[in-house]
Amino acid sequence: MSIFLEPQFHNEEAAYAFIEARVWPDGPVCPHCGATEKHIGKLKGNSTRMGTYKCYACRKPFTVKVGTIFESSHVKLHLWLQAIFLIAASKKGISANQLHRTLGVTLKTAWFMGHRIREAMRSADLAPFGSDGGAVEADETFIGNDRSIKPKGQKKGRGYHHKHKVLSLVDRTTGQARSMVIDDLKADTIGPIVVANLDEEARLMTDEAAYYTLVGRRFAEHGVVHHNRGEYGRGDIHTNTIEGYFSIFKRGMKGVYQHCAEKHLHRYLAEFDFRYSHRIANGVDDAQRAAKLIKGAVGKRLTYRTTDSQMSVS
Ligand SMILES: [Zn+2]
Repeated sequence: MSIFLEPQFHNEEAAYAFIEARVWPDGPVCPHCGATEKHIGKLKGNSTRMGTYKCYACRKPFTVKVGTIFESSHVKLHLWLQAIFLIAASKKGISANQLHRTLGVTLKTAWFMGHRIREAMRSADLAPFGSDGGAVEADETFIGNDRSIKPKGQKKGRGYHHKHKVLSLVDRTTGQARSMVIDDLKADTIGPIVVANLDEEARLMTDEAAYYTLVGRRFAEHGVVHHNRGEYGRGDIHTNTIEGYFSIFKRGMKGVYQHCAEKHLHRYLAEFDFRYSHRIANGVDDAQRAAKLIKGAVGKRLTYRTTDSQMSVS
């Protein structure tokens, strides 16, 4: 990538400056007490104190990494930036193996970086879809064929197949996607999620699945496409947008993340939702997407304890 010629991708000091400018657009803020620029001084010193500030209000030192996905990571920030730009710009995702080879970090480190970056992509915006009275498409899909979570005591290779179930929503007006892992395809499971994520003014678009019937009455309109009658849609009553989204998602999960354990699936969903919601067609270029990702890195600290280290996941 020619963009990696820029200094922040190979010079540690430049990497700090690049991230500081994005995390602290109005100057440094103490993560311990919230003091702002005039109470803060920069420590000059050797590279081990790189990016260290001292707060004169609470007297504690800090760097821009405190309280972010970079905290307590031994990986250099310029490598983090390379990883972030690679993942933000890729169409289908980047495997831990690719990161490991590209960045020269261990496979385990690459895997962990990938999950932290996915965590930074997780949206904090829970505003309901369809609030302008626009169409919101809802649909479910199945991911994977994961035998690693077979019930206890069952031998491998006995044909036990488990598919993860995913419910996605796409707001056709804003082009945003929101996905979640669901336990089953029942009205009692799907209904409350749809209600919580859609404005009542929304026009809900689904296929003919029975579990949308009841919840569909709670919205301004419920457009139903009868796929079982060979119908693809009538006018703007269709689910083509969300089907397009699923095809991107499934290609990525198949090509890059073959063996995804269910406990990590929500992070992959966050990754695909993020890239889709911030795609070129929505007016977001690669650099803007990466900048947004860095902003999302704040307040999303993730430890080994919460990710677990599952090396079977790529
Ligand atoms: Zn302070």
